[in-house]
Amino acid sequence: MFNESRSPRNIRRIAIIGSGMSGLAAALLLKASAVEVTLFEKSRGPGGRLAAKRLPDSLGGGSADIGAQYFTIRNPGFRELLERYVGPEHYTTWSARLRYQSDSGEWGLFKDSERYVGLPRMTAISRALSESLTINARIRIDKFERIDDDQWRLRDTEGKDHGCFDAVIITAPPAQSRDLLAASGLTGLSQFLEPHVSQMQACWTVVARFPHSLGLDYDGFQPKSDILQWAANNSSKPGREGIGEWWVLHGRPDWSDQYQNGSPEFVTEALVGAFAQATGVVEQPDHILTHRWLYAKSAATEGPGHLWFNDERIGVIGDWVQGGRVEGAYESAESLVNRLCSDGSLSPNTQDTSRTPE
Ligand SMILES: Cc1cc2nc3c(=O)[nH]c(=O)nc-3n(C[C@H](O)[C@H](O)[C@H](O)COP(=O)(O)OP(=O)(O)OC[C@H]3O[C@@H](n4cnc5c(N)ncnc54)[C@H](O)[C@@H]3O)c2cc1C
Repeated sequence: MFNESRSPRNIRRIAIIGSGMSGLAAALLLKASAVEVTLFEKSRGPGGRLAAKRLPDSLGGGSADIGAQYFTIRNPGFRELLERYVGPEHYTTWSARLRYQSDSGEWGLFKDSERYVGLPRMTAISRALSESLTINARIRIDKFERIDDDQWRLRDTEGKDHGCFDAVIITAPPAQSRDLLAASGLTGLSQFLEPHVSQMQACWTVVARFPHSLGLDYDGFQPKSDILQWAANNSSKPGREGIGEWWVLHGRPDWSDQYQNGSPEFVTEALVGAFAQATGVVEQPDHILTHRWLYAKSAATEGPGHLWFNDERIGVIGDWVQGGRVEGAYESAESLVNRLCSDGSLSPNTQDTSRTPE
């Protein structure tokens, strides 16, 4: 995409920073091309924004999806990846009754569409995708150092060396990807990410438990509200545990941004209040969990697919480079891997021990 001056190189070992949908998909697609891949993840486990929060055992256990609520499968490659690595035991359709409120205040139904969720939680997808991969978790990569013209050495925030690689693929949100490039002395490249940084939107999330069914005849909705963007009955998704009805409430991006530093109590009161106003429910939740996403979704609905800096052998992928969403994250990975395969950059690892000995 940029800096095309040099001819493609033989890339055998690739480091992927981040194990959300885009990092996991890139790793599996590259592995299928017999390239050696190592994933680094700053959190405890894979998933990124395919995220779930554990619910207390005393209230039936299980977890609530606090990030992506559902996803589409339109791209045949995405379907193939899910069928091959995830399987029907870990994802299924969510036959949700969803509605939205128009500017005039009228309620309408969402368009008919197949909506999918992880089973019994969104992270079941990332867990299954990561089964055949090695993920170096709880390692926050801080920078890469060029050790000769052809390799990068990765260092974490403690200064620890994590080995040398022919290429690096970054999957972090744009502000974090930009900072990684800048910390690695690649300020020229980091500037390409600047326009994407301001597109990322914050999202305050509240998980509210009601001891009894609220008796609503819909499973999720988008109200006309200055505060609440989305609410979903997590308990209506297949395979969810937890006693009572657990609702996930997402704050509007502009509101979440304005109250980025608001206290969880303030945020809870505002979101639960907006939920009550939209539903007419007077009952108060008896258990609350909160989560603040600084980088939840991108406002951009399209993008270049991926960034590839050929001279440096650095790629940047993620939902925000491909119009957002879980499926966009997959497509971003697919577009970079297709590109590397088709331009001859990859040099498959020919020491495949599974081959029949001669
Ligand atoms: C509240 C919310 C609601 C959403 N709703 C939907 C929805 O309904 N449908 C839909 O399709 N999408 C939805 N999305 C968007 C969807 O979750 C994302 O599009 C998708 O999960 C992004 O995947 P990704 O791999 O691009 O990025 P991420 O999932 O963000 O993965 C990036 C990973 O990189 C790791 N990382 C970052 N920096 C470093 C570092 N320096 N070192 C090591 N690791 C690092 C992070 O920990 C993370 O695991 C929602 C997101 C949020 C937050």
